[in-house]
Amino acid sequence: MKPFTVRLRFRHDLDFFLGSKAGEPIIERRLAEKTSVKDVIESCGVPHPEVDLILADGQAVGFDHTLAGDAQVEVFPVENRDTTGTKKRLQATAIYRFVADGHLGRLTRDLRLLGFDVAYGQSADDQQLLELMARENRALLTRDRRLLMHAIVEHGYCPRSQNAVEQTIEVIRRFNLLEFIAPFTRCLRCNAPLEEAAKAEIIDNLEPLTKIFYDQFCRCHGCKQIYWPGSHFSKLQKRIEEIRSRLRTEA
Ligand SMILES: [Zn+2]
Repeated sequence: MKPFTVRLRFRHDLDFFLGSKAGEPIIERRLAEKTSVKDVIESCGVPHPEVDLILADGQAVGFDHTLAGDAQVEVFPVENRDTTGTKKRLQATAIYRFVADGHLGRLTRDLRLLGFDVAYGQSADDQQLLELMARENRALLTRDRRLLMHAIVEHGYCPRSQNAVEQTIEVIRRFNLLEFIAPFTRCLRCNAPLEEAAKAEIIDNLEPLTKIFYDQFCRCHGCKQIYWPGSHFSKLQKRIEEIRSRLRTEA
Protein backbone atom coordinates (compact mmCIF):
# COMPACT_ATOMS: atom_id res chain seq x y z
CA MET A 1 0.00 0.00 0.00
CA LYS A 2 1.24 3.47 -0.89
CA PRO A 3 2.18 5.47 2.23
CA PHE A 4 -0.14 8.36 3.00
CA THR A 5 -0.32 11.34 5.34
CA VAL A 6 -3.00 12.16 7.90
CA ARG A 7 -3.03 15.71 9.22
CA LEU A 8 -4.79 16.08 12.57
CA ARG A 9 -5.95 19.26 14.19
CA PHE A 10 -7.01 18.99 17.84
CA ARG A 11 -9.53 21.63 18.87
CA HIS A 12 -10.01 23.52 22.12
CA ASP A 13 -8.50 22.00 25.24
CA LEU A 14 -7.54 18.70 23.60
CA ASP A 15 -4.04 20.16 23.18
CA PHE A 16 -3.69 19.38 26.89
CA PHE A 17 -2.88 15.82 25.79
CA LEU A 18 -0.35 16.63 23.09
CA GLY A 19 2.61 17.07 25.42
CA SER A 20 5.60 18.54 23.61
CA LYS A 21 3.49 19.02 20.51
CA ALA A 22 1.03 21.28 22.37
CA GLY A 23 0.66 24.57 20.57
CA GLU A 24 1.37 23.04 17.18
CA PRO A 25 -1.75 23.55 15.10
CA ILE A 26 -1.36 20.43 12.96
CA ILE A 27 0.09 17.03 13.77
CA GLU A 28 1.13 14.84 10.85
CA ARG A 29 1.13 11.07 10.82
CA ARG A 30 2.71 9.08 7.99
CA LEU A 31 0.95 5.74 7.63
CA ALA A 32 1.68 2.72 5.47
CA GLU A 33 -1.41 0.64 6.20
CA LYS A 34 -5.11 1.13 6.80
CA THR A 35 -5.65 2.47 10.30
CA SER A 36 -8.74 3.36 12.30
CA VAL A 37 -9.12 7.04 13.05
CA LYS A 38 -9.34 6.12 16.73
CA ASP A 39 -5.87 4.56 16.69
CA VAL A 40 -4.37 7.55 14.88
CA ILE A 41 -5.93 9.97 17.40
CA GLU A 42 -4.73 7.93 20.38
CA SER A 43 -1.22 7.69 18.89
CA CYS A 44 -1.11 11.47 19.39
CA GLY A 45 -1.83 11.01 23.12
CA VAL A 46 -5.53 11.89 23.14
CA PRO A 47 -7.72 9.20 24.82
CA HIS A 48 -10.91 8.30 22.92
CA PRO A 49 -13.33 9.12 25.81
CA GLU A 50 -12.19 12.74 25.46
CA VAL A 51 -13.24 12.88 21.80
CA ASP A 52 -16.79 13.91 20.99
CA LEU A 53 -16.65 14.72 17.29
CA ILE A 54 -14.31 13.69 14.49
CA LEU A 55 -14.42 15.34 11.11
CA ALA A 56 -12.52 13.43 8.42
CA ASP A 57 -12.24 15.70 5.40
CA GLY A 58 -15.23 17.59 6.77
CA GLN A 59 -17.43 14.51 7.31
CA ALA A 60 -18.44 13.44 10.82
CA VAL A 61 -17.20 9.88 11.38
CA GLY A 62 -17.10 7.27 14.15
CA PHE A 63 -14.06 5.84 15.90
CA ASP A 64 -13.97 2.82 13.59
CA HIS A 65 -13.66 4.96 10.46
CA THR A 66 -10.73 3.64 8.43
CA LEU A 67 -8.11 5.92 7.01
CA ALA A 68 -6.52 4.56 3.82
CA GLY A 69 -5.33 7.69 2.03
CA ASP A 70 -4.32 11.31 2.64
CA ALA A 71 -6.82 12.96 5.00
CA GLN A 72 -7.42 16.02 7.14
CA VAL A 73 -8.88 15.13 10.53
CA GLU A 74 -10.36 17.59 12.99
CA VAL A 75 -10.94 16.39 16.54
CA PHE A 76 -13.23 18.09 19.08
CA PRO A 77 -13.69 17.58 22.83
CA VAL A 78 -17.08 17.32 24.52
CA GLU A 79 -17.57 21.04 25.12
CA ASN A 80 -18.48 23.21 22.24
CA ARG A 81 -21.65 21.54 21.02
CA ASP A 82 -23.20 24.89 20.30
CA THR A 83 -20.67 25.94 17.73
CA THR A 84 -20.41 22.73 15.77
CA GLY A 85 -24.09 22.06 15.26
CA THR A 86 -25.81 18.72 15.38
CA LYS A 87 -23.17 16.51 13.82
CA LYS A 88 -22.59 12.95 14.97
CA ARG A 89 -21.52 12.94 18.63
CA LEU A 90 -19.42 10.19 20.11
CA GLN A 91 -19.88 10.81 23.84
CA ALA A 92 -22.89 10.67 26.12
CA THR A 93 -23.11 13.69 28.39
CA ALA A 94 -25.73 12.49 30.87
CA ILE A 95 -23.77 10.19 33.15
CA TYR A 96 -24.32 10.24 36.90
CA ARG A 97 -22.18 7.41 38.23
CA PHE A 98 -18.41 7.42 38.39
CA VAL A 99 -15.40 5.45 39.46
CA ALA A 100 -12.27 7.39 40.39
CA ASP A 101 -8.71 6.08 40.50
CA GLY A 102 -6.71 6.05 43.73
CA HIS A 103 -5.04 9.42 43.07
CA LEU A 104 -8.32 11.33 43.01
CA GLY A 105 -9.36 11.01 46.66
CA ARG A 106 -10.07 14.70 47.15
CA LEU A 107 -12.07 14.97 43.94
CA THR A 108 -14.03 11.89 45.05
CA ARG A 109 -14.79 13.52 48.40
CA ASP A 110 -15.93 16.77 46.79
CA LEU A 111 -18.21 15.00 44.34
CA ARG A 112 -19.74 12.91 47.13
CA LEU A 113 -20.19 16.05 49.20
CA LEU A 114 -22.28 17.41 46.31
CA GLY A 115 -24.32 14.20 46.27
CA PHE A 116 -22.71 12.34 43.35
CA ASP A 117 -22.16 8.61 43.24
CA VAL A 118 -18.39 8.03 43.03
CA ALA A 119 -16.92 4.61 43.67
CA TYR A 120 -13.32 4.80 44.82
CA GLY A 121 -10.77 2.40 46.12
CA GLN A 122 -7.50 3.92 47.18
CA SER A 123 -5.63 0.73 46.51
CA ALA A 124 -7.68 -0.66 43.61
CA ASP A 125 -5.51 -1.66 40.66
CA ASP A 126 -6.30 -0.79 37.05
CA GLN A 127 -8.00 -4.11 36.38
CA GLN A 128 -10.31 -3.70 39.38
CA LEU A 129 -11.19 -0.16 38.34
CA LEU A 130 -12.04 -1.24 34.81
CA GLU A 131 -14.13 -4.17 36.03
CA LEU A 132 -16.13 -1.98 38.40
CA MET A 133 -16.58 0.62 35.67
CA ALA A 134 -17.94 -1.93 33.20
CA ARG A 135 -20.06 -3.88 35.69
CA GLU A 136 -21.84 -0.81 37.09
CA ASN A 137 -21.76 1.28 33.93
CA ARG A 138 -19.73 4.07 35.53
CA ALA A 139 -17.63 6.73 33.85
CA LEU A 140 -13.92 6.48 34.68
CA LEU A 141 -12.21 9.49 36.25
CA THR A 142 -8.44 9.29 36.01
CA ARG A 143 -5.41 11.38 35.10
CA ASP A 144 -3.76 8.26 33.70
CA ARG A 145 -4.36 8.71 30.00
CA ARG A 146 -3.09 5.21 29.15
CA LEU A 147 -5.80 3.79 31.39
CA LEU A 148 -8.39 6.03 29.74
CA MET A 149 -7.28 4.68 26.35
CA HIS A 150 -8.12 1.11 27.34
CA ALA A 151 -10.49 -0.32 24.72
CA ILE A 152 -13.08 -1.27 27.34
CA VAL A 153 -13.55 2.36 28.47
CA GLU A 154 -16.68 3.88 27.03
CA HIS A 155 -17.08 7.00 29.15
CA GLY A 156 -14.43 8.77 31.11
CA TYR A 157 -12.65 12.00 31.79
CA CYS A 158 -9.13 13.12 32.59
CA PRO A 159 -9.18 16.12 34.96
CA ARG A 160 -6.86 18.76 33.53
CA SER A 161 -6.17 20.51 36.82
CA GLN A 162 -4.32 19.04 39.79
CA ASN A 163 -6.48 21.08 42.18
CA ALA A 164 -9.48 19.24 43.63
CA VAL A 165 -11.94 22.16 43.48
CA GLU A 166 -11.02 22.84 39.85
CA GLN A 167 -11.29 19.14 39.04
CA THR A 168 -14.74 19.05 40.61
CA ILE A 169 -15.85 21.98 38.47
CA GLU A 170 -14.44 20.29 35.37
CA VAL A 171 -16.35 17.06 36.05
CA ILE A 172 -19.62 18.90 36.74
CA ARG A 173 -19.26 20.74 33.44
CA ARG A 174 -18.16 17.73 31.42
CA PHE A 175 -21.12 15.59 32.53
CA ASN A 176 -23.71 18.38 32.88
CA LEU A 177 -24.22 17.76 36.57
CA LEU A 178 -25.03 21.29 37.71
CA GLU A 179 -28.75 20.81 38.21
CA PHE A 180 -28.23 17.51 40.05
CA ILE A 181 -26.14 18.90 42.90
CA ALA A 182 -27.64 17.68 46.20
CA PRO A 183 -25.24 18.43 49.07
CA PHE A 184 -25.15 16.23 52.17
CA THR A 185 -27.05 13.32 50.67
CA ARG A 186 -24.14 10.89 50.36
CA CYS A 187 -21.54 9.48 52.75
CA LEU A 188 -18.09 11.00 52.23
CA ARG A 189 -16.45 7.85 53.55
CA CYS A 190 -18.20 5.06 51.69
CA ASN A 191 -20.44 6.65 49.01
CA ALA A 192 -23.72 5.16 50.33
CA PRO A 193 -26.79 7.43 50.59
CA LEU A 194 -27.52 9.20 53.88
CA GLU A 195 -30.83 8.87 55.67
CA GLU A 196 -32.30 10.96 58.43
CA ALA A 197 -31.91 9.41 61.84
CA ALA A 198 -33.96 10.13 64.95
CA LYS A 199 -31.81 11.28 67.84
CA ALA A 200 -33.28 8.63 70.11
CA GLU A 201 -32.05 5.88 67.79
CA ILE A 202 -28.42 6.96 67.71
CA ILE A 203 -27.98 8.75 71.03
CA ASP A 204 -25.80 5.99 72.48
CA ASN A 205 -23.23 6.61 69.71
CA LEU A 206 -22.86 10.34 70.31
CA GLU A 207 -20.20 12.25 72.23
CA PRO A 208 -21.56 14.00 75.34
CA LEU A 209 -21.47 17.55 73.89
CA THR A 210 -22.96 16.45 70.59
CA LYS A 211 -25.81 14.89 72.56
CA ILE A 212 -26.50 18.23 74.21
CA PHE A 213 -26.11 20.67 71.34
CA TYR A 214 -27.51 18.90 68.27
CA ASP A 215 -30.90 17.51 67.36
CA GLN A 216 -30.63 16.85 63.62
CA PHE A 217 -28.76 13.81 62.44
CA CYS A 218 -28.19 11.73 59.34
CA ARG A 219 -26.80 8.25 59.22
CA CYS A 220 -25.03 6.49 56.39
CA HIS A 221 -27.02 3.61 55.00
CA GLY A 222 -23.77 1.73 54.35
CA CYS A 223 -21.12 2.28 57.01
CA LYS A 224 -23.51 3.73 59.66
CA GLN A 225 -21.36 6.86 60.10
CA ILE A 226 -23.42 9.60 61.80
CA TYR A 227 -23.44 13.14 60.43
CA TRP A 228 -24.67 16.29 62.15
CA PRO A 229 -24.29 20.03 61.51
CA GLY A 230 -21.27 20.49 63.80
CA SER A 231 -18.10 22.52 63.31
CA HIS A 232 -16.90 20.44 60.34
CA PHE A 233 -20.24 21.17 58.67
CA SER A 234 -19.57 24.88 58.14
CA LYS A 235 -16.21 24.04 56.55
CA LEU A 236 -17.95 21.71 54.14
CA GLN A 237 -20.62 24.30 53.42
CA LYS A 238 -17.91 26.82 52.58
CA ARG A 239 -16.39 24.38 50.14
CA ILE A 240 -19.76 23.76 48.48
CA GLU A 241 -20.33 27.51 48.23
CA GLU A 242 -16.89 28.02 46.67
CA ILE A 243 -17.63 25.38 44.03
CA ARG A 244 -21.10 26.77 43.34
CA SER A 245 -19.94 30.35 43.02
CA ARG A 246 -17.10 29.38 40.67
CA LEU A 247 -19.53 27.38 38.54
CA ARG A 248 -21.69 30.49 38.28
CA THR A 249 -18.94 33.01 37.56
CA GLU A 250 -16.72 30.93 35.27
CA ALA A 251 -19.58 29.80 33.06
ZN1 LIG B 1 -20.84 5.50 54.82
